[in-house]
Amino acid sequence: MSEEPVPILMYHAVAAEPNDATRDLSVTPEAFAEQMAIVADRGRTPVTTSELAAAWRSGRPLPDRPVLITFDDGYEGVHRHALPALAGHGFRATLFVSTGWLRGPHDTGGALDTMLDWDQVRELAGAGVEIGGHSHSHPQLDQLDDERLRSELVRCQEIVAGQLGAAPVSFAYPYGYSDRRVRRAVREAGYAQALAVGNGTARRSQGPYALRRVTVRRGTGPAAFERLIEGRAIARAFARDRALTKGYAVVRRARQVCGRVARARA
Ligand SMILES: [Zn+2]
Repeated sequence: MSEEPVPILMYHAVAAEPNDATRDLSVTPEAFAEQMAIVADRGRTPVTTSELAAAWRSGRPLPDRPVLITFDDGYEGVHRHALPALAGHGFRATLFVSTGWLRGPHDTGGALDTMLDWDQVRELAGAGVEIGGHSHSHPQLDQLDDERLRSELVRCQEIVAGQLGAAPVSFAYPYGYSDRRVRRAVREAGYAQALAVGNGTARRSQGPYALRRVTVRRGTGPAAFERLIEGRAIARAFARDRALTKGYAVVRRARQVCGRVARARA
């Protein structure tokens, strides 16, 4: 059984012009496309959250050099900008939705920016994106009483099941916050695995309900991104960052051609 740590990337909005509330944790469409080119260039194979957890549960092998691409909340740019980039490479990903934030019949307000609607979520699911739960109204789950905690988890599950025909099996804690009680409630609600934040690579020994992720931000340059997917946290010279930025502009142009081939194959 492989004990190799796996980097799990955490994205939020993918937007050219995010609002102030989502800016720091957003990436531009161009940066996202460049980051996917780096993932491909480094020979990483994206898998979904449930694929990672199932492999670690059963001992089945993972592809070589696995990585997870995850999106929290459900911003519209995940469909508009991230999906074409993912599809161009044939990459799998996971989207964790706060069901009360998405546009449509379950919208309870409170979303920070323009969100996906359910047709877009279904399209993402059809393109190989796993749809996971991220609560209904995005509260700090560890601050809720037992009843409200359970309702946040179950409501999210029921709405996703109603809209997609299958209940979500993976969960991401809003704000990354969880404690023993929250993790138990997530398990009892029927989620098979859950992701925290923690800014470290995921390891099997963390257990299926506390897998760590690394944050990709607006300020994450190509060299810093490469360190994230290599599980390295050590700072490098800025000169390397600049060299990579130039280098990957070339890679990206080349890949726009390759992407069409990959799409035709998928
Ligand atoms: Zn969130």
